Amino acid sequence: MKNDVSVLRPKNIKELDQILLRNGAQWTFVAGGTDLLVRKQSWRQTTHIIDLTGVPELHKRIETDNRRARIGAAVPYSVVINHPFIKAHFPILCQACSQIGSIQIQNRGTIGGNIANASPAGDTLPVLAVLDADILVGPAQTGDFKRFKVNEIMKGPGQTGLQANQYIAYIEIPVLKAKNQFWAFRKIGQRAAIAISKLSLAVLGWFEEDRKIREIRIATGSVAPVISRHEKTEKILTGQFLSEKLIEQAAETIKQEIDPISDVRSTAAYRREITANVLRDVLYALLKA
Ligand SMILES: Cc1cc2nc3c(=O)[nH]c(=O)nc-3n(C[C@H](O)[C@H](O)[C@H](O)COP(=O)(O)OP(=O)(O)OC[C@H]3O[C@@H](n4cnc5c(N)ncnc54)[C@H](O)[C@@H]3O)c2cc1C
Repeated sequence: MKNDVSVLRPKNIKELDQILLRNGAQWTFVAGGTDLLVRKQSWRQTTHIIDLTGVPELHKRIETDNRRARIGAAVPYSVVINHPFIKAHFPILCQACSQIGSIQIQNRGTIGGNIANASPAGDTLPVLAVLDADILVGPAQTGDFKRFKVNEIMKGPGQTGLQANQYIAYIEIPVLKAKNQFWAFRKIGQRAAIAISKLSLAVLGWFEEDRKIREIRIATGSVAPVISRHEKTEKILTGQFLSEKLIEQAAETIKQEIDPISDVRSTAAYRREITANVLRDVLYALLKA
């Protein structure tokens, strides 16, 4: 490493915030390092590094109560996946985290890193969108963190709205009504394991007692430059009973609604088709359940 690189390892969140409020440098935060360390070019230009893994509030803590879970942004995926409260209340998040990379990546990688990396292929992003998670951003001013939704933080591939001294502190997820809830997370990649998504689809919703859809939230990753919910498709399904006709209508709507990109992994035409097919598959599974 170059001699003029400064690496700080604050011991708690107060110390971290003091550094950031005092020093206006172009900070690079490191959590698991699974994205950062493979980015050879930009990593070489880094001069001011803050290692978040020494901050227990961010690296070790998941706080829960009957209203919400607050996950430290630098808590490794494997801890999130095995946390009893997260498993019980947010199985869709566990499902997405357990499909990221390999066990080794899950032991180091973090949700905060996934968000800040701002890749449209970040697997937690569509899930956080349907869970309506708040992203809490520090440094805290008079004890308060700034709150954003995932689509407000992500501005485009590799770009966030975070300023040079801002970091993601927590991911806060409201506890949702469990009764009549349904959910699905599907990921399409080149291979079964250690694959970057060509498409990820997150669906979360609730049935009425009579199985009419009361509410449904649908978000995709890897399709467009940013993560978004698909409100037109959600509207087609809301207040309706699932039927073959409705499912075909929803599949056709999402095909029109998304604005896919062509890149090294897939063409836009493929992404349009596969998104409709995967949604169709999820809805047919619900119809048959
Ligand atoms: C082999 C391999 C397989 C992978 N597979 C997948 C996959 O299947 N799905 C997927 O989504 N991703 C995958 N990834 C990408 C990566 O593992 C994830 O994006 C992971 O969540 C990054 O977290 P991290 O803690 O390692 O981030 P880091 O590498 O530490 O940081 C990533 C970026 O976020 C910034 N950052 C980190 N934490 C914060 C914070 N709290 N506040 C502000 N900025 C922060 C860093 O400065 C950097 O710019 C894979 C990576 C590898 C190497």
